[in-house]
Amino acid sequence: MAQTTVVVPEVGMTAATPTACPCPGSLFPYPPPRAGMAVSRKCLRAAQAELGAGMFLDYDGTLSPIVDDPDAAFMSETMRMAVRSVAKHFPTAIVSGRCRDKVFEFVKLAELYYAGSHGMDIKGPAKSSKSKAKGVLFQPASEFLPMIEEVHQRLIEETKHVAGAKVENNKFCVSVHFRCVDEKSWGALAETVKGVMREYPKLRMSQGRMVFEVRPTIKWDKGKALEFLLESLGFADCPNVLPVYIGDDRTDEDAFKVLRRRGQGVGILVSKHPKDTSASFSLQEPAEVMEFLLRLVEWKQLSRARLRLRRQADA
Ligand SMILES: [Mg+2]
Repeated sequence: MAQTTVVVPEVGMTAATPTACPCPGSLFPYPPPRAGMAVSRKCLRAAQAELGAGMFLDYDGTLSPIVDDPDAAFMSETMRMAVRSVAKHFPTAIVSGRCRDKVFEFVKLAELYYAGSHGMDIKGPAKSSKSKAKGVLFQPASEFLPMIEEVHQRLIEETKHVAGAKVENNKFCVSVHFRCVDEKSWGALAETVKGVMREYPKLRMSQGRMVFEVRPTIKWDKGKALEFLLESLGFADCPNVLPVYIGDDRTDEDAFKVLRRRGQGVGILVSKHPKDTSASFSLQEPAEVMEFLLRLVEWKQLSRARLRLRRQADA
């Protein structure tokens, strides 16, 4: 297995080969790929306290590969099975820049939480009997909907001369994808988008992975969405609960910062290259994310089996 080169600020070393949990007497063989000792210790603590983790997953570049056509960013059936398995054990949310309906079309799992439009459109599971936040629906930027539709049309018009540019309406934000645009035209495209933005001071532009994002200036991002979901799940005041957030983009940094500030949970950056990040750990690509999710399920099943045996022995 190749080693990643992403620096892990929390432990001050480069994330390396998976390390077995060093806790004495541990029967939780959980070596998460490249996540090292700290994750094992935290997971073990959560298991001992019989507390669940919350799993928060970005979509593009995390569960699906980055492809030229954003409408064709399908996740594999095996990845879907891995996410479904995780959701059986932990409350699981998809947190994406995409419109909530579109990301649901890709993921197709009714038992998950979905936070679309960078967390500005949050909905609880459509299918769940035990969810604490089943009915949750939160849309902090509803008043911006007409403006977003207007700017969507303007951006289509203004960028139609740029070959390969694709404008996507994500309901509460607009994405201008440039992954198919010639690199020589990136600067001009950015200026075009900025030019339109000057007419809409209540909207702001940011740059993601091969995409310009236009969204309301309200103080709401993936980090706020994560905090909202933790609150809705009743996890906000549970220091032993272990939220895990996995993402690959700059917009995911807001969520990594939230976990770091709270001293709660684990942020995992998906990247093959060194990056300045607030995440604590890294995985290289969606295939490793899938492996990590499956190992988490395996660990949870083993920890439950061990607990059952211990109770039987004590009875
Ligand atoms: Mg992403």
